[in-house]
Amino acid sequence: MVTKYSNYVNGAFIDAPSEATIEVLNPADHSLIALIPDSAAGVVDEAVAAARSAQRGWEKLPAIQRAGFLRQISAKLRQHRDRLAEVITREQGKVLGLAKVEVDFTADYIDYMAEWARRIEGEVIPSDRPNESIFLLRKPIGVTAGILPWNFPFFLIARKMAPALITGNTIVVKPSEETPINAFEFAKLVAETDLPPGVFNLVSGRGATTGVALTGHPDVGLVSFTGSVATGQAIMKAAAANLTRVNLELGGKAPAIVLASANLELAAKSIVASRTINTGQVCNCAERVYVEASVAEEFTDRVVKLMAATRYGDPLREDGLDMGPLVNKIGLDKVAAMVERARAEGAEIRLGGKLADRAAGFHYEPTVIAGCRADMEIMRKEIFGPVLPIQTVGGLDEAIALANDCEYGLTSSIFTDDINAAMQAVRELSFGETYINREHFEAMQGFHAGRRKSGIGGADGRHGLMEYTETHVVYLQTH
Ligand code: NAD
Repeated sequence: MVTKYSNYVNGAFIDAPSEATIEVLNPADHSLIALIPDSAAGVVDEAVAAARSAQRGWEKLPAIQRAGFLRQISAKLRQHRDRLAEVITREQGKVLGLAKVEVDFTADYIDYMAEWARRIEGEVIPSDRPNESIFLLRKPIGVTAGILPWNFPFFLIARKMAPALITGNTIVVKPSEETPINAFEFAKLVAETDLPPGVFNLVSGRGATTGVALTGHPDVGLVSFTGSVATGQAIMKAAAANLTRVNLELGGKAPAIVLASANLELAAKSIVASRTINTGQVCNCAERVYVEASVAEEFTDRVVKLMAATRYGDPLREDGLDMGPLVNKIGLDKVAAMVERARAEGAEIRLGGKLADRAAGFHYEPTVIAGCRADMEIMRKEIFGPVLPIQTVGGLDEAIALANDCEYGLTSSIFTDDINAAMQAVRELSFGETYINREHFEAMQGFHAGRRKSGIGGADGRHGLMEYTETHVVYLQTH
């Protein structure tokens, strides 16, 4: 059945019959599953106006009351967890188990941000003048825009919405046109809560229509974006017109360093998990390995074995899968072309290296590529698929130098039982995050932020929360 969805603006689902529509496909069988609006500037204006007028009243509420509304939303998500997971899987392609984790994590994240209600603290600063007090207040920015990618589409709604709302902002969310259905289902559940109209709005559409209208809107105070570097750059340019703030979570090419002192079984398992979870389409996951020469063969053999055992298929029709399809044909073609170029450049395909032999679905075989060099595209550009390139290095200094020589700077990891080596890596790796002897996966109370082209600003924890506030300094002179 093909469902037609409507934008959620000012607490109502609004029909826009004249609006162009976009088709949403299931990446596992290419079937049409929904039609969504490609919202033009007029609809975006309406949504921003609704968010603007709701914001004044929302800001005035004590934060603890705003937290109550957020908790109503998280409770709804938990009630509908299995259905929501199926929606995510159908349009995005991740396995059901991971989709359930995504819904659970989303609900927990909203609760976590709600817990900050009593801790959005300002400061009192000593003055140079007698009888004066200087207060530094944390205030909301106003209307925020959340522009989302397709890889963790449901969680990303919360990552933008929850910190925005608890700090007194309102929001207009634009989901990815690849995975909008989960966002409409989220909005339907929001509509069942007591959240005041206009505090949360959802408009769907393409980047070139809806995204552009939102990022260039003069009444939007902050654009919080997760997606590719190219789009992040376009958003910064558009935001420059009004000097709108931007928070950009962009791509990654995370290095994993494996030393001879590592537990190789742990390293292989953790790194393979990075390439198979969400079919390798995760910004923070290990995308390139630097392994010390003396253990390179053993490590590569272990990785090949684990990757070869990866089960993939249609996540709504087959049980016990590790991976679903890639999100779309563009993604599949990109992965295939990158592997071909690596082969042509002289890398050695140890496993996979071709499209999966299946009747339908954007599947690529789990692939391991050894003998990679620093100048190869496969070691420098984001792959976003189940492909692991491996380069052999002489030692830690070389590994760190190669890891840092990259336009991305989101996450990194090192596997070693040598505390001195681990601490050298912590001192010298130039990344927003480093994982030591564990898989790449951030915590909501941490801070997820990239260096270089991986972004500006960050999300999660207290530091992420504060990105949704601005400071107001008050000088109170008494007599
Ligand atoms: P994308 O940049 O193609 O699209 C993301 C969103 O931007 C979509 O909603 C799209 O419609 C919109 N958009 C496109 N052009 C626009 C424009 N000119 N103005 C405004 N909006 C526009 O990214 P994607 O393919 O959906 O996501 C994959 C990328 O996201 C990968 O590079 C991945 O690394 C990155 N990502 C990063 C993080 C992180 O936390 N750093 C998390 C998840 C994904």
